[in-house]
Amino acid sequence: MNVADSELISGLLSNNGYEKTKNIFQADIIFVNTCAIREHAEDKVHSRLGLYNKIKEKKPDTIIGVLGCMAQNLKDDILESKPFVDIVLGPDSYRNLLNMINSRDKEKSQLMDTKLSKYEVYENIFPRRNNGVNAWISIMRGCDKFCTFCVVPYTRGRERSRSIESIVNEAKQAVIDGFSEITLLGQNVNSYNHAKGGFEKLLDSVAKVNGVKRIRYTSPHPQDMSQKVLDIMSKHENICNYIHLPLQAGNNNVLKRMNRTYTKEDFIDLVDKIRKSLPKVGISTDIIVGFPGETEIEFQETLDVMKKVKFDSAYTFKYSSRPGTKAAEFDDHLEESEKQDRLEKVIDLQRKHTLFQNKKYIENIEMVLVEKESKKSIKHWAGRTDSNKWVIFDKSNTNIGDIVPVTISSVRGITLQGEIVNIREMEAA
Ligand code: SAH
Ligand code: SF4
Repeated sequence: MNVADSELISGLLSNNGYEKTKNIFQADIIFVNTCAIREHAEDKVHSRLGLYNKIKEKKPDTIIGVLGCMAQNLKDDILESKPFVDIVLGPDSYRNLLNMINSRDKEKSQLMDTKLSKYEVYENIFPRRNNGVNAWISIMRGCDKFCTFCVVPYTRGRERSRSIESIVNEAKQAVIDGFSEITLLGQNVNSYNHAKGGFEKLLDSVAKVNGVKRIRYTSPHPQDMSQKVLDIMSKHENICNYIHLPLQAGNNNVLKRMNRTYTKEDFIDLVDKIRKSLPKVGISTDIIVGFPGETEIEFQETLDVMKKVKFDSAYTFKYSSRPGTKAAEFDDHLEESEKQDRLEKVIDLQRKHTLFQNKKYIENIEMVLVEKESKKSIKHWAGRTDSNKWVIFDKSNTNIGDIVPVTISSVRGITLQGEIVNIREMEAA
């Protein structure tokens, strides 16, 4: 989400004569695009701002801006405690950026715009994308789900969707610009809803764009994962067999206190339904441990659901209290050591499940999109299967952006190792 917003901001700036510099010490303007989802994310921004302050001490004309969710959440705090910050802009105010830079040059006072909008979806502003094979396309903004632990509905405002037409146009442009993969983005991608149709209609329309080799989307909410979406996924070759399905917790009381709107039984049934529709699907998840009041017995049920589902991978988090959210007001917060202990248990179990799922791939031939050079050596590529598993393999005359058949030979940690199938040998066999 943040990468996509940064690319949008980059697009706005580069269309108006600004250029990226490789040397931050020479920059005229430094913007930090921020995330407020967990305390850790905020801590990182505070320490970055410390560095930018040092740069500004040496070069006082440098404009420093704090953009995005943290700007929304901590605006007064930033303006008071960080006088070297010139501009504070919330996630719905990026169109105001150039005005602000211009007035900042004249006024030399701190400027702020953090109004949230019911309508802003940045229609028709083309992002300036980073290099790579994947183009992020933001299809909707905001969230109306109000999970009690989550700050997003407060920092990014109400849910609103872009038109299918403008998303399709952006997908066409991404193909022209040479991107092999498109990832549709939103806080709740599958509650996408625009006058001309819902998420399944959008997926179908993007899949039909000529030249789109791969489509992914993230993150869907289990509540809105419909059979229609699964049917569209199985209908189109170019929609990846992969779903990120955030569980958060495996106990019904905890799920209720989180306001997640599904039970553990609903979640397990949904996974069964997904695997029936898409037999080769990869499923990953998000898990929060140590939500306020979570007992040891309740926590064990998260492990139970994990054992039933055996996710391919999981992003695991210790609950982090976010001021302004409902759960922050609960009076039964857990000790840090308890959260840490539970986190380690979840990570350990997930490691086993990832290995279990990955071993099923040995001897398979998988179509892998070549994405970058492997950290292992300059002779190897790293790429992903359509089920979202990283594969390391020899380069043998292939290029970044190609989709190539790879025989999986072994599993190491979370990655697979393989060799490119020699097409001529394959045809001769
Ligand atoms: N919209 C997505 C996720 C957005 S945030 C969804 O509904 O699933 C990404 C992940 O961060 C969440 O899935 C959750 O696991 C984690 N997260 C959000 N708020 C958190 C908090 N206060 N403490 C710990 N993890 C949190
Ligand atoms: Fe946050 Fe819940 Fe919305 Fe996801 S669905 S962004 S976790 S409130």
